Amino acid sequence: MARYRGGCLCGAVRYHAEVAPINERVCHCKRCQKAIGAAFNARVLFRIDHVTIDGPVATVNSSPDLKRGFCSSCGTTMFSRRDSAGIIGITTGSLDDPSVFKPQMHMWTASKQPWVRLDDGLPQYEGAPPPN
Ligand SMILES: [Zn+2]
Ligand SMILES: [Zn+2]
Repeated sequence: MARYRGGCLCGAVRYHAEVAPINERVCHCKRCQKAIGAAFNARVLFRIDHVTIDGPVATVNSSPDLKRGFCSSCGTTMFSRRDSAGIIGITTGSLDDPSVFKPQMHMWTASKQPWVRLDDGLPQYEGAPPPN
């Protein structure tokens, strides 16, 4: 049974992952804010080959090594993918059931939007978190 199922607003793109994620984090960096069009990017990270994606996905590089993936019909951003590391971060807003998201930390909080108050007790890192 897949815990992580989702897709875009128009339904043309669907994805699922059948494994536990590598980690679950909230990124407050400027690039995520722009790419997602929101205050932060709450995402679940998987190995690329553990996520099956069907439908008309388009990608754009938001930095040389990072591709943002979105539906070419409705524009919903569903992932950011780093091919060199073999990882893909799924946007939790595109999950069928976003409540499965269990965040473990906040990162890049130096660029956190000022109205966002973090009182969940999770670790916070001003930049990149230490490698795990
Ligand atoms: Zn769509
Ligand atoms: Zn980010």
